[in-house]
Amino acid sequence: MRLPLIPLRGLMVFPHMVLHFDVGRQKSVAALEQAMMEDQRVFLVAQRDGETEDPGMEDLCRVGTVALIKQVLNLPGDTIRVLVEGQARAVLRAVTQEEPYWLSQVEVPPQDARETPEIEALVRTTQELFDEYARASLRVSGETQHSVSEVDRPDQLADIIAANVLTRVEDRQAILEEIDVEARLEALCEILIRETQLADIEKQVQSRLKKQIDKNQKDYYLREQIKAIQEELGDKDATDVEDLRRRLSETPLNDEAREKAEKELDRLSRMAPGTPEIGVSRTWVEWILDLPWGKYTPDNLDLRRARRILDEDHYGLEKVKERVIEYLAVRRMKEMNTQDGALKGPILCFVGPPGVGKTSIVRGIAKAVGRTFVQMSLGGVRDEAEIRGHRRTYVGAIPGRIIAGMKQAGTMNPVFLFDEIDKMSHDFRGDPASAMLEVLDGEQNDAFRDHYMELPFDLSKVMFITTANAMDTIPGPLLDRMEIIEVPSYTEEEKLQIAKRHLLPKEVKEHGLIAKSVKLSDAAMRKVIENYTREAGVRTLDRTIARIVRKAAVEMLDEDKQTVTVTPQVVEKYLGAPRFIREAPEKEPRVGVVNGLAYTTVGGETLAVECATMQGSGQVQLTGQLGDVMKESARAALSWVRAHSDEFGLDKDFHKELDIHIHVPEGAVPKDGPSAGVTMTTALVSALTGRKVRQDVAMTGEITLRGRVLPIGGVKEKLLAAYRAGIKTIILPLENKKDLEDVPAHVLSQFRIVTAENIEDVLKVALI
Ligand code: ADP
Repeated sequence: MRLPLIPLRGLMVFPHMVLHFDVGRQKSVAALEQAMMEDQRVFLVAQRDGETEDPGMEDLCRVGTVALIKQVLNLPGDTIRVLVEGQARAVLRAVTQEEPYWLSQVEVPPQDARETPEIEALVRTTQELFDEYARASLRVSGETQHSVSEVDRPDQLADIIAANVLTRVEDRQAILEEIDVEARLEALCEILIRETQLADIEKQVQSRLKKQIDKNQKDYYLREQIKAIQEELGDKDATDVEDLRRRLSETPLNDEAREKAEKELDRLSRMAPGTPEIGVSRTWVEWILDLPWGKYTPDNLDLRRARRILDEDHYGLEKVKERVIEYLAVRRMKEMNTQDGALKGPILCFVGPPGVGKTSIVRGIAKAVGRTFVQMSLGGVRDEAEIRGHRRTYVGAIPGRIIAGMKQAGTMNPVFLFDEIDKMSHDFRGDPASAMLEVLDGEQNDAFRDHYMELPFDLSKVMFITTANAMDTIPGPLLDRMEIIEVPSYTEEEKLQIAKRHLLPKEVKEHGLIAKSVKLSDAAMRKVIENYTREAGVRTLDRTIARIVRKAAVEMLDEDKQTVTVTPQVVEKYLGAPRFIREAPEKEPRVGVVNGLAYTTVGGETLAVECATMQGSGQVQLTGQLGDVMKESARAALSWVRAHSDEFGLDKDFHKELDIHIHVPEGAVPKDGPSAGVTMTTALVSALTGRKVRQDVAMTGEITLRGRVLPIGGVKEKLLAAYRAGIKTIILPLENKKDLEDVPAHVLSQFRIVTAENIEDVLKVALI
């Protein structure tokens, strides 16, 4: 047959099928017109590629359909809608003409109307598979199902199913191309089986998705409902939870923290309004959100700048400042030469009496490096929970002071100062020192766990610094991790300079006065230092100067003055009678009284050790708030004297008929430490022999049972105390000679220094 040809794109017409489509291509329209003029039949064949605009023979499929045109409708814009009815498959043999329309030569194969048992069986199978597919896919309409069941001719059955249910063009074309009915049904069965499987899988996936969506929607709906109800009840908790959720999503927490916080928020959102637990739960989440996750300040490790800042606020302290600069230099080196940026190293510990500027130096470090500063005093902390917090199950539990400090700092890398680390104690509530160990240990503090927070928090970027008054009471394991920097007490001269340069200007400013409006003469300042304070540092001095400034301010207002100059007389008017009068040492040598030198937590001190003997039964009494070490020194002293009774012309059994009383007066500061051995021995010998002791001599040193004099600590402090007390001769253990380097020259020049190796050397100088 020769028929005009219309190529179809993405669409296929089967025999016995009625369908309409739009024709737009010029040549297709021409073919249509030609067909209408002849017998209204066209050959419809699919293009292999729908994109091809002007297909040739090779672009067309091999088999198409001869169709009868039933209706033609002109649409606006050169498009024609046609209604066609498929009549028979036909094989394209040739395209004989391409202009003005395609003319094709096609061959219609004879109808295959065999009815073999194989075909019969295939028909049934096809019907069953189709039903199965219809059930699985839910896409086949009842109408199609009905019309399929009506078909009784095997060749039509395959065509109808293919036309109505197959969606893929390749599948449909494959069916169209099967001329043989048996092969066509088989091919269709295969496709139906595959499609049914796909439909099953699709159904599973869909139902899973649907469940998910349903749950999400349900949750959302319920949550909105709760919110609405709570709003109705005037409860603002619900909106709070949303707020917290939003804040949580904006905070860069670590994974564990985020997971726990989200869980808690879910719990929180489900709690009935008014439950007391809501507060507990919300406080916890708020604590998490208030921590400075991911916030860091950049370090400024410019050493010159650091030096300038430390110098600006602190007079003297050269050695301390140099150590601080060294420490910063090491940090800077490490930062430049290591990748991880974790700067593990010893913790600095400033040791010295109160008021010598330890805290103030640490503040200076923070300022120089540009980090935020937080401070926590460990003095009197005896409960581990203060450091690590209470578990959340406790009523009123809060995080420990470390976490609180981090919140206050507002950054992950502040300078964190632990004051008075030597004043921690421990009892049944746990050992705070072991918690501190964990905090300070660079190996494990990147995941510090507070009992309350119950999540790891990174402390490894914090610069921890500690201070202490004395080293000997710092727990050993802690001491191991620290680098000790001793901050010594000040001499009067240093105090004078600090007061003039720093304390006075600072107080004047803090009291709102104009700079330099209060002047203190050097003599007045010395009077304040000598007669109104007695301390190693400058804390009381600072307070006393503040008092003077206040009085001066009153005077300025009362008497309408611009400036006030404070002289020694004015000091006495402002502050009342002097509180400390330097007693000149007793000039006259005395029996049983010896000047000792002690080093206490508040600096150096002179102590007059007294010894008296009386008729009795060999009892030894020690009074004056002595510690155990000092009591043992006293016994060692007594034993030595007994062992050497001959040399002093004492009766062998002198101790049996005598009671001996040793007393160490002066103040209420508990005294302990191994440095009063020589003093007590000298006092004993003097009391027992009746020989007088020179009162312008002061001594310090420990003795062994054999009378050797052992070295002691705090030489500088002790000499400063002796200087204040007007002592002329100092007896020191020989091995302490090297420590004299630290003593300011003007102090040293006041003394005659005698070094002693044995107690005999001491007695020779001290006894008359
Ligand atoms: P500490 O921590 O050692 O007990 P602080 O750091 O609290 O002592 O010092 C007490 C006061 O003395 C602070 O106001 C500090 O500024 C001041 N101060 C201490 N030493 C110096 C110094 N060398 N130069 C200037 N001011 C000082």
